Amino acid sequence: MLMSRGLRKVVNGLVVVFAKQGNRSVGVRPLSVCGVGQAEAETRESARDDHYDIIVSGGGMVGFAMACCLGQSKRLSNQRILLLEGAPSKPWSLPEDFSNRVCALNAHTQKLFQKLGVWEHITQMRTQPVKRMQVWEACSEAMITFDAQDQEDLIAHIVENDIILHAIKAQVPNHVEVEYSAKVKGYNLPSDSSSKVTVSLQDGRILTADLLIGADGAKSLVRKTMGVQYLSWEYDQMGIVATLQLSEPVDNTVAWQRFLPTGPVALLPLSEDKSSLVWSTTRANAKELLTLSDEEFTEALNRVIWDDSGTDQIVQSVHERWLKLLETFLPGRGADIRQLPPSLSTVMPNSRGAFPLGLGHAVHYVAPRIALIGDAAHRVHPLAGQGVNLGFGDVASLLDTLENCILMGAEIGEEQNLHSYESERQRHNVATMAAIDGLYRLYSTTATPFVLLRSLGLSAVNVMTPLKRRVLHHAEG
Ligand SMILES: Cc1cc2nc3c(=O)[nH]c(=O)nc-3n(C[C@H](O)[C@H](O)[C@H](O)COP(=O)(O)OP(=O)(O)OC[C@H]3O[C@@H](n4cnc5c(N)ncnc54)[C@H](O)[C@@H]3O)c2cc1C
Repeated sequence: MLMSRGLRKVVNGLVVVFAKQGNRSVGVRPLSVCGVGQAEAETRESARDDHYDIIVSGGGMVGFAMACCLGQSKRLSNQRILLLEGAPSKPWSLPEDFSNRVCALNAHTQKLFQKLGVWEHITQMRTQPVKRMQVWEACSEAMITFDAQDQEDLIAHIVENDIILHAIKAQVPNHVEVEYSAKVKGYNLPSDSSSKVTVSLQDGRILTADLLIGADGAKSLVRKTMGVQYLSWEYDQMGIVATLQLSEPVDNTVAWQRFLPTGPVALLPLSEDKSSLVWSTTRANAKELLTLSDEEFTEALNRVIWDDSGTDQIVQSVHERWLKLLETFLPGRGADIRQLPPSLSTVMPNSRGAFPLGLGHAVHYVAPRIALIGDAAHRVHPLAGQGVNLGFGDVASLLDTLENCILMGAEIGEEQNLHSYESERQRHNVATMAAIDGLYRLYSTTATPFVLLRSLGLSAVNVMTPLKRRVLHHAEG
């Protein structure tokens, strides 16, 4: 359904289109002045019908957040905006059971959502605060903890992806046109800003735009068509996700992550008796884990969380002396209290799923009349829970850039005007991605010198509160 092909009427000498989205009228636009020849008016009308100031391609969490920001922006209020999503629209209401796909949203994303009115919908549905995060490893006793300063400064909020998406959709203003089952077949991208972008849909329609925003995920067709260099590799790992039942209700506000040589396993709090699992492991192990019964899977999970048989004894004794030394220089801070993760009773039936994990980064996010955002521009390992937060950061930054363009009277699609978006985001994203990939590699080895270095380093960072806060705040930026 193309919403702009709505009912046409002549009102006060103007041909007016009443666009419809389902039963919802999404905009009223004068198209042509009466008196122009009928055929010419029809042609012009249809050309303008198919032209948008901004097309957002891809309606995942990031694409919808972009459409929501553009639609709510006062400076961009006269822009004609279309969001294209390849998948069909499905009716949705909050299910009783937790979804196995969740994200840890950081403070920066929360602020953006509060500004958009999205956060209120999320809190009305469900979300679980994270007040503490404990990260430890399988080869030594070293660990690091992050504690919330206060209620206003929590570590993160765990929210199901479906809730995030539907909360954002609820705040997309009516004048933003949204089209589902609108798979894009191809793009014709201009080599400079003198021509428009052409978007060919699978149903044969052709649209044009002054600016195309590629939010079409890690396999982005927009990025491929741009021909931009894309640095990428697979981790030969799968991320197993599932919902877990705890043995008893607890104050479940701690996020736990244990680094194993095969990959990190994380338990994220959902409610007082449920947690969400993200278990990154080798493809072979993931395949095997998916075939286990619920009981066997729970047993295997409990083993990797509790088993200390992989502890390196040399590292252990040096690390104990290191902690004593830290305690001498920073009394009271050397030995942080190690909490025990909640005991797991079972994995919820049919809640297991698995996703391939990899890293990818587009060397350029912009080109004439194009900007990439979210996973279309960058893909990271979920070990730091940053993927979609980086995408929401892109959205906020691109909105700023476009608003500035309008303020300066500049063309929104001109490449030079989009560069501030690219440089601002790449500065942040590349540093975050390098840190995540570095962590992944550092914890993939069991070689004693590396285990020793990372254990001493982790314990040292753990006692340096200002450094820990800097790490946390960079992740939020
Ligand atoms: C196991 C796992 C755990 C994760 N945990 C976290 C976490 O805790 N915190 C976090 O921040 N991130 C996390 N992430 C990452 C996060 O899920 C992604 O970063 C996020 O989903 C990317 O959103 P997106 O909107 O950019 O892309 P997508 O969700 O991939 O959306 C792209 C959209 O574009 C549409 N599309 C694609 N091609 C076309 C086309 N040709 N025409 C029309 N439409 C098209 C698709 O249908 C889709 O709806 C995790 C990822 C994994 C795998």
